[in-house]
Amino acid sequence: MDDRQYSFEQGPIRPPNEARSLLMRLTRNCPWNKCLFCPVYKRRKFSLRTVAEIKQDILSAKQIADEITRLSRQLGAAGKVTDQVVSHIFNQSGFSDNYRSVAAWLYYRTDACFLQDADNLVMKTDDLVDVLAFLRSTFPQISRVTTYARSRTVVRKSIDALIRIREAGLDRIHIGLETGHDPLLKLMKKGVTAAQQIEAGQKVVAAGMELSEYVMPGLGGQQMWEEHARNTARVLNKINPHFIRLRSLRVPSRVPLY
Ligand code: SF4
Repeated sequence: MDDRQYSFEQGPIRPPNEARSLLMRLTRNCPWNKCLFCPVYKRRKFSLRTVAEIKQDILSAKQIADEITRLSRQLGAAGKVTDQVVSHIFNQSGFSDNYRSVAAWLYYRTDACFLQDADNLVMKTDDLVDVLAFLRSTFPQISRVTTYARSRTVVRKSIDALIRIREAGLDRIHIGLETGHDPLLKLMKKGVTAAQQIEAGQKVVAAGMELSEYVMPGLGGQQMWEEHARNTARVLNKINPHFIRLRSLRVPSRVPLY
């Protein structure tokens, strides 16, 4: 198999529960990139990708999936991605990371897709709708599409725009709330206020999408732990998201907070 024939871009991270999802990169890195505790995209420049580039990536992922199905038939697995097929792809040289990640996705059959990187709602609504519709028609088996977004970006979208995005195929948005305490948001350079976090969360819910909010225990340190906890609870109660996930503060030497 010529693994150089098809390839597509993938970004550095996804939420823990999207480990077995197909990862498609719509934008590169983070348009804000200033949060003091965040190591992920530092020293990497944000850029939008064109709709044509993203569609080409979706087609490449589909071509890889089709090749894997053909390989499965050759191996006597009737087009299914079985233990035998996936171990063939992971143990033989000549299969790129793209082939391995599509093979793992087909093997686990999650039918889920996560759109990378940090803030895809920064795309023009028409472009995002176009890409989502293309993704859904290219992979009709996909049953859930999710993405990261910043609250500051979500508040700039109208409810009507968010409904269009949901109808085109985006089911869930993951937002890094971190804290609902304004002095802490400011100290950490999160670039958003608690009021904007509430407005964004409520808009996502009102548009009919699922919402996952990430809270960062430990971010308040010894001085602000109590306000951090109380105001985070206050904000979450106003939003009432579908999921609340905890991702405790870590301060490795590569983050500005260190
Ligand atoms: S908005 Fe998210 S990805 Fe961007 S710097 Fe802040 S925490 Fe990191």
